Amino acid sequence: MYLSRKPIKHYGILFKLLVVFIGIMVVAYFTISTLLIYIKDSVNISRDIVKVRIEVLTISQRLVDSLLVMEENQKKYEIIHSEEYKKNFMAALSEYKNAIWSILWFRYEGFSAWEELHAEFRKAFPDLAQGRELTKEPWIDQDTLNQWMRIVVSARQDNERVLESGMRELFRISEAAVSRGLSGLTISIGVGLLGVLYLTYSLSRPLRELRRGIRAYTRDGRLEPIRVLSKDELGELGAAFNDMTVRLKEEERMRADFIDMVSHEIRTPLTSIRESVNLMRERVLGDVNERQKRFLDIASDELQRISAMLTSLLKVSSMASQIVDLAPVTFNPEELLRETLEKAGPGAEAKDIALTPRVAKDIVSVVGDRELLGQALYNLVGNAVKFSPAGRTVRVGLELADGGQKVLASISDEGPGIPEEEQAYVFNKYYRGARTKRSTDGIGLGLSIAKTIVEAHGGNIWLSSLPGKGCTFYFTIPVDGARA
Ligand code: ADP
Repeated sequence: MYLSRKPIKHYGILFKLLVVFIGIMVVAYFTISTLLIYIKDSVNISRDIVKVRIEVLTISQRLVDSLLVMEENQKKYEIIHSEEYKKNFMAALSEYKNAIWSILWFRYEGFSAWEELHAEFRKAFPDLAQGRELTKEPWIDQDTLNQWMRIVVSARQDNERVLESGMRELFRISEAAVSRGLSGLTISIGVGLLGVLYLTYSLSRPLRELRRGIRAYTRDGRLEPIRVLSKDELGELGAAFNDMTVRLKEEERMRADFIDMVSHEIRTPLTSIRESVNLMRERVLGDVNERQKRFLDIASDELQRISAMLTSLLKVSSMASQIVDLAPVTFNPEELLRETLEKAGPGAEAKDIALTPRVAKDIVSVVGDRELLGQALYNLVGNAVKFSPAGRTVRVGLELADGGQKVLASISDEGPGIPEEEQAYVFNKYYRGARTKRSTDGIGLGLSIAKTIVEAHGGNIWLSSLPGKGCTFYFTIPVDGARA
């Protein structure tokens, strides 16, 4: 059973939206935190590279240069004792000392080589190291110079190695950050897409089902319960719709019962009144003058009209369950058409309307409920006559369709036609066009009865109309309709 009066609300739409949102936020949060860790690492490495390693590299270059200048000028001085070379040597020595003192600012792990160089200098030039004037000749023996150069070169190479590995690490971190960032982005987009798909699916399915239920009612007048597909607000809406269909069905049944009861109650006295009026009209009960006869004729016509209306009401209430009892026989549809036109003849004549049959030569016999199909055809022809202005033509055709499987009937008139917005509703029970309500009589049952009869035979009924240019009603009946 579809119906549930109080659906238990498990996950509301807001909850679903929240879950999707949180999903996206969690992935985004993890991606951003990972990226921040990478950025922090690379900032540390870059700081070491820029503030220590590159500085040390520059200063060590100054050490190498000054050592080379010292060696060159010492050698030149040994050959030509020029004061100029000594001055140059002293300048380079001072530069060397300054460079060692500058490098001492950067104390890092594995700094011992520079400290050794510092100790060596202090040992060789204690006066200079303590900021005093040099008291002896500045010259240094070649071995010491070579040893200092070796220390500088090796410490410089160590520094370069650390610099290079730092650069490599920086590159690795940036690559990892890019790939993590991209995968995080992809996952967030994926989670977002999946979430949106899930939301669309879970929202649109119940909405489609609801639309189907509403359309079944507005188009075909069928009240069907729908499937309650979700446990959220839309599920509640579906359950409320089902409650409404139950309520409407109940009201429909009560209305049908009421109409049934009233129609039956009226029918019996109406038949007696009609019989009495007819007896008077036919002068069985005594003489009536012409004036009285005229009024009795009017009364008889009106009684005839009311009785036809009651017949329609009773027919519709007996068809209310949509299950029509058919009494199938094999009959010639052309004969049925001619009989129907004869029946509609007087009404058409009164309005000077020509009824023109057009029957295809190859028309075949049909198995079906002859009386009911005659009723359906009569309702359509009757409407065509009713809605046509005087002096026009109503064409009724019969031909084979669907490769001889079906008989197609068409009824065309030259009346006002049916506006497009009304076309979907004219087959509904009790529906009457906005314009017709004022100008013509009727109770809006003719087309609904015709549709029920045609569909009970497995056929279809439809119409095409250009407002202002009349309309054509069509219906098909499978040749062995009642058997199907
Ligand atoms: P009724 O004729 O009693 O109003 P029907 O069920 O036969 O009820 O028709 C429903 C409505 O369809 C009519 O009220 C009218 O507006 C429209 N209709 C039906 N047949 C025609 C037609 N041949 N031409 C124009 N309008 C039509």
